[in-house]
Amino acid sequence: MRAPIALVGIGKIARDQHVPALAASPDWALAATVSRHGRVEGVDAFERMVAFLAARPDVGAVSLALPPQPRFAHAEAALKAGRHVMLEKPPGQTLAEVHALERLARERGLTLYATWHSRMGKGVAAARDWLAGRAIRGGRITWMEDVRHWHPGQDWVFEPGGMGVFDPGINALSVLTAILPEPVHLIEADLDVPANRQTPIAARLLFTGGIAMELDWLFPGEPLWDIEIETDGGTLLLREGGNRLFVNGEEQEGSAEGEYPALYRRFAELVRAGECEVDLSPMVHVADALTLGRRRVVDRFDF
Ligand code: NAP
Repeated sequence: MRAPIALVGIGKIARDQHVPALAASPDWALAATVSRHGRVEGVDAFERMVAFLAARPDVGAVSLALPPQPRFAHAEAALKAGRHVMLEKPPGQTLAEVHALERLARERGLTLYATWHSRMGKGVAAARDWLAGRAIRGGRITWMEDVRHWHPGQDWVFEPGGMGVFDPGINALSVLTAILPEPVHLIEADLDVPANRQTPIAARLLFTGGIAMELDWLFPGEPLWDIEIETDGGTLLLREGGNRLFVNGEEQEGSAEGEYPALYRRFAELVRAGECEVDLSPMVHVADALTLGRRRVVDRFDF
């Protein structure tokens, strides 16, 4: 029996990933949408969360595919109305607001699932297993893509709370924090902020353990989403955002499941088990970079 779920924020990622994943899900049936402009054909549509919550008490779970800035108010309203909540990444604008949501969910016996879709990349679990017990000698993360292609016209990424180039960069950090045998922390960061914007468009970071990270949002053509880790047993390379794994140059077999089908499967498991899953370690690194980073003003950016 597929449980009814509502999808909130019908924009780019909802259309690209959530709607197809839900259509194929053995666990969930898309029963309603909440979005001021977006709709999904044939699905009960609401423009406001409060109207949905009042009209559809039968829908016990909501998935928020909104930008981070409006996420807290929507999540809080859903939890207060007794619904289980799944959050797109990053789970909020600030760490404290996600802690508040987690407290609320736990007090009410509800599931809060802060998703990290890149952790469901096909090579990530095998990478974590291969690194377990090995000594890390250093690493290099290269996260470069074209913001105009991946976030066309989305000004929210450059507003406070939007995280700029860390909106994709947090995906790399979600993988890094999932695969390393021991945690690392940020030592220094350089942030390039366009003269007319609030958040970085490029950044260079250095972590303990000799792990360097380069992020660039003006990179044309095919994106580079690579994580390379040097160990006492050789080199591990994750390419394509965690979806292809190479060990000492040889490609390894990964899982068969796609990222978003895996997220919705996990959400169903958590709801059945009555558990929350909220790991903020990727967001701690971003918050640290924004706290510690040296800012350099660079050319204006317009879409
Ligand atoms: P988006 O298309 O700009 O926004 C999604 C929808 O949220 C919008 O269509 C809009 O729907 C609603 N919305 C936007 N701003 C709002 C506001 N201030 N208040 C209320 N509703 C608002 O963004 P997206 O690219 O789908 O990204 C959404 C989230 O998914 C982000 O956290 C992002 O990091 C994550 N994500 C994005 C991608 C990607 O490739 N773009 C990939 C993975 C994850 P209405 O106008 O109809 O209300």
